[in-house]
Amino acid sequence: MNDDSFSAGEHLVSPAYIRQGREARRGHELLIRLLLEKGKCPQEAWDESTIELFLHELGVMDSNNFLGNCGVGEREGRVASGIVARRHYRLIHGIGRSGDIAAVQPKAAGSSLLNKLTNSVVLDMLKLAGVRTATSCFVVPMATGMSLTLCFLTLRHKRPKAKYIIWPRIDQKSCFKSMITAGFEPVVIENVLEGDELRTDLSLVESQIQELGAENILCVHSTTSCFAPRVPDRLEELAEICAKYDIPHIVNNAYGVQSSKCMHLIQQGARKGRIDAFVQSLDKNFMVPVGGAVISGFNNAFLEEISKMYPGRASASPSLDVLITLLSLGASGYKNLLTERKEMFAYLSSELKELATKHGERLLETQHNPISMAMSLKSLNDKGGTAITQLGSMLFTRQVSGARVVPLGSSQTVNGYDFKGFMSHSNDYPCAYLNAASAIGIKKQDVDLFIKRLDKCLRLCQKEKPSGDDLQTTMEGVTELSQQLSLSSQAETEDPHLLT
Ligand SMILES: *Cc1c(COP(=O)(O)O)cnc(C)c1O
Repeated sequence: MNDDSFSAGEHLVSPAYIRQGREARRGHELLIRLLLEKGKCPQEAWDESTIELFLHELGVMDSNNFLGNCGVGEREGRVASGIVARRHYRLIHGIGRSGDIAAVQPKAAGSSLLNKLTNSVVLDMLKLAGVRTATSCFVVPMATGMSLTLCFLTLRHKRPKAKYIIWPRIDQKSCFKSMITAGFEPVVIENVLEGDELRTDLSLVESQIQELGAENILCVHSTTSCFAPRVPDRLEELAEICAKYDIPHIVNNAYGVQSSKCMHLIQQGARKGRIDAFVQSLDKNFMVPVGGAVISGFNNAFLEEISKMYPGRASASPSLDVLITLLSLGASGYKNLLTERKEMFAYLSSELKELATKHGERLLETQHNPISMAMSLKSLNDKGGTAITQLGSMLFTRQVSGARVVPLGSSQTVNGYDFKGFMSHSNDYPCAYLNAASAIGIKKQDVDLFIKRLDKCLRLCQKEKPSGDDLQTTMEGVTELSQQLSLSSQAETEDPHLLT
């Protein structure tokens, strides 16, 4: 309501009460004005009523919600279902225009404002999380892999001769496919083993550049967040190599925003050398549904080129989700989540270390990995057969998600490329292991239940005889299955909240 409406209301309700109501509304409006003026994430969390008021105001600015609108175009923001309209706060036009995902739409002032504001607030968060000199970013309604593809396709026009992408190996299929889909040939740089850690082979990167010729290389594609025992790439040195040979550098920072160490690596890389763009997942870092990523960097002109490569319009949903989330948390709420995550990382490490020792195993020493950790599974591996993968399925049956077991020597072909030791980021990692991660939003209870269930599973595995011939393996499988069924129903009674 505006001042005229409030005055009109005074005929119906005492002016003193109306005045108070108007003051209350001003409180919400002040927050909205500050948000638009500063373009930064508010320090304190917003109340849901302020967020909804704001979203409704944005919605009525779009032409599909004009009271007098008559549409005679082919895309008029008509939505058949009221549920769908409400799910999107009646922001139906999406973002961007046919030639640029960052462009403003005349038909949809509200959606355009949402888009610009979200990008500005997300940039503020990237800075707050540690990349202080980032200058530009935009949200795209594609997950990380496709967003990396968009970066590579943008570089293609700047480096017409380039055929190769230098890629320190990380066994994750979407980042591998991002290069294949863009039409490039990945040059896989095997990692080097240092203690338990798998780290970037810098001299191999440099010798490959010299061998292939810098102009034939599209870019170096490095990674921060990854499963232990791989650790984040040596970004600073890679960035220096890229600067030296004048080769672009794209960083896959999939779930790195939540880690100050990953963000620091990017900041240092950009300071000491060359980073053209870094890409991160919205869902993994900001606790929203899967569907979006943020492409960011230090050079506005290059970021603009990427946004212009996006053909057509785009869904506004990921932008809307992340804006709502950041307003709901406030910068302070997000910082608290980051702090809790770090504390849970230390807790999970110490608990897993203790459990490992108890079972004659050890927590691998991967101090450069700030999110993921690994525990050796030597004795299970020695049993042979399917013991390792069985542990994986046992954990899965017990509703442990996200833990993954990595057996030795599993090979896989991805898009015609053979990877020895697939999943372990290495042709021949010395031992089988199990991964667990402390990612944003994890609670102490997640850690406690995980440790308890893993302990049970390991005890169960150790009781089993080593598998011999196929019949024996099958019989053990049957026994295991029946044990699992009775155990998991036990687990359900122990942890009734899991079912809710
Ligand atoms: C999640 C992730 C990706 C991207 O996966 P999307 O499903 O495309 O978001 C890429 N690399 C790594 C290391 C990841 O963890």
